[in-house]
Amino acid sequence: MTLTAMGLCALLSWVALPGLAQSHNPAAPGTLQGPIFPQGERAPAQHFTGTVWVKPLVDDDSTYRCVVGNVVFEPGARTHWHRHPAGQILLVTDGVGFYQEKGQPKRLLRRGDVIQARPGIEHWHGASSTQAMTHVAIVPNTEKGAATWLQPVTDEQYQRTK
Ligand code: MN
Repeated sequence: MTLTAMGLCALLSWVALPGLAQSHNPAAPGTLQGPIFPQGERAPAQHFTGTVWVKPLVDDDSTYRCVVGNVVFEPGARTHWHRHPAGQILLVTDGVGFYQEKGQPKRLLRRGDVIQARPGIEHWHGASSTQAMTHVAIVPNTEKGAATWLQPVTDEQYQRTK
């Protein structure tokens, strides 16, 4: 690559990242935009409706007793109904989606929302019908079990407005 071409690439990188001047993050340009974590692999179809991607971020071990993963739900995709014996925390990092506990209204999820699913509460989470949703899922106290999977969320349940 010539010096001129290198200069052009540097300039284009700069133009494409207008927030860089204010950033305290020393990471290389290109890591500051787009998804925070890798998309990972397709989630097992027996627990989800639609297309869901999971990237393990922290594996369970005897020190932390905790599993952390990034989950991407494509539009319309959602978990089946399920419970976590020791609860779950969801950190929404992108898109628009829903969280619903059995017998409660659907809650709209947006980037920045934090959900605490209490131990044993039946619930589901997923994307909206038109926009994808990404969250980090944290399952603590894994010695009590990670999840008990139940029936799929039907289209009628998914589309219900409350
Ligand atoms: Mn859950």
